[in-house]
Amino acid sequence: MDKKYIIGIDLGGTKISGAIADMDGSILNKITIPTLAGKGALTVVGRIADTIIKLMESRSASYGEVSGIGIGSPGFVNSKKGYIAFASNLSGFNNLPIVDMIEERLKIKTYLENDAKAAALGEMWFGAGGNCSNFIYLTVSTGIGGAIVYNGDIFTGSSNMAGEIGHTILNPEGPKCGCGHNGCLEAYASGTAIARLANERLKECEDSLLKEYDNITSKEVFDAASRGDKLASDVVDYSLHYLGIGIANLVTLINPERIIIGGGVSMAGQIIIDKVWEEVKANSFKPMYENLSIVPAKLKADAGVIGALGVVLTRSKGKR
Ligand code: ADP
Ligand code: ZN
Repeated sequence: MDKKYIIGIDLGGTKISGAIADMDGSILNKITIPTLAGKGALTVVGRIADTIIKLMESRSASYGEVSGIGIGSPGFVNSKKGYIAFASNLSGFNNLPIVDMIEERLKIKTYLENDAKAAALGEMWFGAGGNCSNFIYLTVSTGIGGAIVYNGDIFTGSSNMAGEIGHTILNPEGPKCGCGHNGCLEAYASGTAIARLANERLKECEDSLLKEYDNITSKEVFDAASRGDKLASDVVDYSLHYLGIGIANLVTLINPERIIIGGGVSMAGQIIIDKVWEEVKANSFKPMYENLSIVPAKLKADAGVIGALGVVLTRSKGKR
C-alpha cells in the first residue's frame, strides 16, 4: 500500500503532543493531551497509542498508509534497541521497551530518540540546520541537552549516550549539578541555574529590580538585565561566560560547521549568540571557528513533534 503519512510524538513529563504529517513532514493535524505520568508507564503508552489512532482517524488514514512513527522522549534512551533507559521526570519508565509496545499494538514501524536529539534532527530537516550535515545542537532549557549531528544523523557513541553537553564539567569545584557531579555546564547556564544564581545573590543585595518579582525565572533575570539592573546583568554575564566556555570547548574538540542554540533560555535573543561568540573567539582557535556559524534554533513551539517527525525522516530514508 502507498505510504502517505508519518507521525511524530513528543512525550513530555506533563503533556503528550502528536502530529500527523505528509511524507515531506508538513503537519496536517496536531493533538495534545496530558501525560498523566503518575498513572504509570502502561497507561502512558496506551495514551500515546490512542493519540496515534486519533491522528490517523482525523485523516482517515489506514494503518498501511503510515510509513513510520517517531517518538521523542526525555531522559536516556537507547534508540537502537528502542527503550527508555531512565527518565527523571517519568518515574517507573526505567528500561521501558516502548518501541516494541507501540509496534505490537499498531503494527507500524516505530523509532525512538531522546527529545533533544530529536529536536536536532527537526532542525536539520526543517529549521536552522538546512544544508548542514555536521553541527552541534544545544537546548538551553530547564537543563541543558544536546546532540552532535555527524554526516546527517546523531553521533551515538558506543552506548548511545554521546552528546550530553550539559554534563561536561567546567569546574570540578563548582556548584552541584542535578546529575550528582559538580560544576557541569548545566549547573552554570541552564534556566534553573540562572534563576538559582540570581536568588542567591539577591539575598545579599538591597537594590535590584528583581526584588519586584515573587518568582524569579531566567526570563525575569534577562528582562531585568536588559533594563540595566546590575545584579541581573552580572548573573547573565556570569552564566553566559560559562555557556560560551562550554561551547568554545566543543569548537576546539569537534570543529563543527554550525552550532544551533535552542530551548527556552535562547528566547532571550541575540545577547546569547553575541556573548557565546565573544567566548569562542577568546578561548578557541581562529582556524577552528573562522568558518563556523552560531545561530538560534528556528523551531519554537512545535520543536518537539517536528523533531519526532525528523527522526522518522532520518531513520526511514537513510541519511540525508
Ligand atoms: P523545558 O526545559 O521543559 O524543555 P523550555 O525549553 O521552555 O522548557 O525551557 C524552560 C526554561 O526557559 C525556563 O528555565 C525558563 O525560565 C526559560 N525561559 C523561557 N523564556 C525565556 C526568556 N524569554 N528568556 C530567558 N529564559 C527563558
Ligand atoms: Zn551534571
